[in-house]
Amino acid sequence: KPLKASEIRKQFLDFFASKNHEIVPSAPLVPIDDATLLWINCGMAPLKKYFDGREIPKNPRIANSQKSIRTNDIENVGRTARHHTFFEMLGNFSIGDYFKEESIAWAWEFLTDVMKMDKERLSVTIHPEDDEAFTIWNQVIGIPEDRIIRLSENFWDIGEGPCGPNTEIFYDRGERFGCNEPGCKAGCDCDRYLEIWNLVFSQYNHNPDGSYTPLPKKNIDTGMGLERMASVLQDVDTNYETDLLFPIIEQASQLAGKQYKVKKEYDVAFNVIADHARTVTFAVSEGVLPSNEGRGYVIRRLLRRAVRFGKVLGLEDAFLFKLAPVVANIMEDYYPELQNNLDFVQKVIRTEEERFHETLNDGLVILQNMLNDYKQQNINEINGQAAFKLYDTYGFPVDLTEDLAEESGFTVDKEGFEKYMNEQRERARNARQDESSMQVQGGEIAEFKEPSEFVGYDNLEAEARII
Ligand code: ATP
Ligand code: MG
Ligand code: MG
Ligand code: MG
Repeated sequence: KPLKASEIRKQFLDFFASKNHEIVPSAPLVPIDDATLLWINCGMAPLKKYFDGREIPKNPRIANSQKSIRTNDIENVGRTARHHTFFEMLGNFSIGDYFKEESIAWAWEFLTDVMKMDKERLSVTIHPEDDEAFTIWNQVIGIPEDRIIRLSENFWDIGEGPCGPNTEIFYDRGERFGCNEPGCKAGCDCDRYLEIWNLVFSQYNHNPDGSYTPLPKKNIDTGMGLERMASVLQDVDTNYETDLLFPIIEQASQLAGKQYKVKKEYDVAFNVIADHARTVTFAVSEGVLPSNEGRGYVIRRLLRRAVRFGKVLGLEDAFLFKLAPVVANIMEDYYPELQNNLDFVQKVIRTEEERFHETLNDGLVILQNMLNDYKQQNINEINGQAAFKLYDTYGFPVDLTEDLAEESGFTVDKEGFEKYMNEQRERARNARQDESSMQVQGGEIAEFKEPSEFVGYDNLEAEARII
């Protein structure tokens, strides 16, 4: 009988408790005392104070299951098998205590002994110069050389401060999931080799003059995706079919009167809705309300995005608030507060959904007036800028604009629309780059490969717009 996700979480924490780790509860998604982060985006983020030496933990070994939000993966969400905006990261941490050998050996023991994963399907990536990691994987663990792949990007470095190589563990889900390109192996972007666990070895200090010197006290920071683990252990095709997400899809499917796994376009919509339902439910439960700035803006965009994908499924009335109880049920053993806050959460979501429907209706009026004007001027195409404005201001997906236009005998300049969309994506991307350089200037340790959540409301606006 496959393991439930809640059992995987529990066994992970029990395993590291048996290795003398202090088990700490998930910190809130909204960072406490950390102005550099919009959301907690990995298990280490709430433990930064220990990694940068501001505080000494009573036990240098810590493990957690941390709820996390990442918006940088948004374009993959619903399309790949493995990306979410909300997910849980299981992690074990050593603050100047154990190092590479133990962390690798325990990761292997957990995956193969406790979770009983097939050893033959596991492969790893390491940093090209990390011979130490190579020797441990190859000699101590016994992974053959051809399943230890050297990748130069396996180095966590955010500028000044602690940094170091990392090693990632991949599960081969089989050819059927692969891109089938020559050279498809661990590290490939397709869904065949699923990255399940990242172990970061912070062993150097990146000095202000650019040199690297060994740290006197070396740290371990690991992160494993609970949803990905569940997809492997429950032997399902995507994270969305695990017990963490599937009940949400079933409920949406019932509300829409449409089946899952019949049409690709519908599946993406179901996946996006299930993903965003979790993010919005958790964030609102923590008191983040939809608004026009900061975290509230991210939540507003995600909620609107879910509503728009709902339209793909023919969901025309408020529905997202009906998924919140399903999320609360799935999560109640580890996050019982969701049940307690459910009335509030549903009210907030429902109000926001209804308000968005009004916005959409306003957009319909704008569109109708526009078409009337065009008719008088003998124009029969909605230009890219107008289509983009309908999207950007009124939340009209271009397909919806197209459908409505077509009904009145109009076409839409989709190429022009794409041009505006690309410009917007470009702005968001640049904003992200600014963010990472800001983080480097911050100089404080923050071992995130994904610096995209740095606070900066101008940037955030740009980022949230691509949502
Ligand atoms: P990927 O390459 O698949 O985008 P990543 O390298 O960005 O993942 P890490 O930053 O190393 O991910 O995070 C540690 C672990 O957390 C990953 O190995 C994965 O299991 C999980 N994880 C990361 N991002 C996501 C996400 N967006 N959705 C679900 N799980 C994730
Ligand atoms: Mg990623
Ligand atoms: Mg990766
Ligand atoms: Mg990784």
